[in-house]
Amino acid sequence: MFEKILIANRGEIALRVLRACRELGIRTVAVHSVADTEAKYVKLADESVCIGPAASAQSYLNVPAIISAAEVTDAEAIHPGYGFLSENADFAERVEQSGFAFIGPRAETIRLMGDKVSAKDAMKAAGVPCVPGSDGALPEDPKEIVKIARAVGYPVIIKAAGGGGGRGMRVVHTEAALLNAVQTTRAEAQAAFGNPVVYMEKFLENPRHIEIQVLADEHGNAVYLGERDCSMQRRHQKVIEEAPAPGIDRKAIAKVGERCAEACRKIGYRGAGTFEFLFENGEFYFIEMNTRVQVEHPVTELITGIDIVQAQIRIAANEKLWFGQKDIVFRGHAVECRINAEDPFKFTPCPGKITNWHTPGGPGIRVDSHVYNGYTIPQHYDSMIGKLIAYGDTREQAIRRMRIALSEMVVEGIKTNVPLHQELMLDARFIEGGTSIHYLEHKLADRNEVKKS
Ligand code: ADP
Repeated sequence: MFEKILIANRGEIALRVLRACRELGIRTVAVHSVADTEAKYVKLADESVCIGPAASAQSYLNVPAIISAAEVTDAEAIHPGYGFLSENADFAERVEQSGFAFIGPRAETIRLMGDKVSAKDAMKAAGVPCVPGSDGALPEDPKEIVKIARAVGYPVIIKAAGGGGGRGMRVVHTEAALLNAVQTTRAEAQAAFGNPVVYMEKFLENPRHIEIQVLADEHGNAVYLGERDCSMQRRHQKVIEEAPAPGIDRKAIAKVGERCAEACRKIGYRGAGTFEFLFENGEFYFIEMNTRVQVEHPVTELITGIDIVQAQIRIAANEKLWFGQKDIVFRGHAVECRINAEDPFKFTPCPGKITNWHTPGGPGIRVDSHVYNGYTIPQHYDSMIGKLIAYGDTREQAIRRMRIALSEMVVEGIKTNVPLHQELMLDARFIEGGTSIHYLEHKLADRNEVKKS
């Protein structure tokens, strides 16, 4: 096992990784920007290194500074968290070339999955169900493009191979709009991602977002840890996540989960990963794979009892998976609310000093957050300041506990989206379960209408 790990991230995930290391008896190095000097995990870490100014480009994305920090502190491995450099294949490569273990998949796997066309090809070949569409990249010939769209059937969505973060996509409803849309998406993709390759998919009108968590080791073993439902989204950003997904047949989950585990074995996947699917009319359609730990991993931890971050570390240290698929028992239900420092109605970020911070507790409540009383949220980064996770024997109990937890939560000095979560935990459609990825946007639009009239 490693003796010392450098955590190349910030915020709640830096603290989460630090806690996993502590439990495994591993010493930690926190790297931080000037703006994060006062962060809790920086103080809790065994060592800390300031790697640059507040701007992420010069600190959390500064590869040479991070590698140097690992060198001067004698760290053996680097955990990239999520966001920042976590899915950057060049970074993973540099880390390994510099003699450190990268706590994540091999650089070539990250590269394969980072290009959506190659990722989809690989998944199709591995037997993972994909959204019907163009076989690979769209050709140049306009006649061919029209032909493909007719075969797929309208509406279609044009997507950039190099896209991410919900950018580089365009929905097309009619043949008249097709070629223009392809051209515009190509130009945008070139400008935003330096890669003009686009592909086409059938546009699913009312899907749910269901994702499968996997773990795979260096010895050819892979398991799936069930699914998460992350359909409650605003602007393609997840707001609430839960596990298991309400109302989906367990046999269907087992089938798609087994396909994902098999795909991991086929591509030689290493570490934790997530297969994201759209789910419509009982069918799963793969859209992309995330080759890192995800924000919403705790809901899976609560229903399986498996510590995903510790698993990442143990796998990176070359351990064999210490359990098989049959040993994984899914028990109860977990719901996660992302707590953001933002206006709960206008969604504008609200950084600043937290003058009073009190977190809830009690049975089934977990709070993953790096903030504390008197902490100042820097304006330079993401607005998520923590996650509130509720567990119960049933979904009803988890939601009930979440309501109580939200009512106990005290955050003063800044605005947060806690009022939105309180509203959603009482929303009849959410309580029923199984809403589509458009539900929250529609609800928010209705809410604005009511406010106006
Ligand atoms: P990104 O990497 O930018 O997040 P994804 O491929 O994961 O891109 O897609 C992001 C979101 O776009 C999905 O969660 C879904 O809301 C929508 N989307 C993508 N592909 C389709 C599709 N074929 N049909 C309907 N919606 C889609």
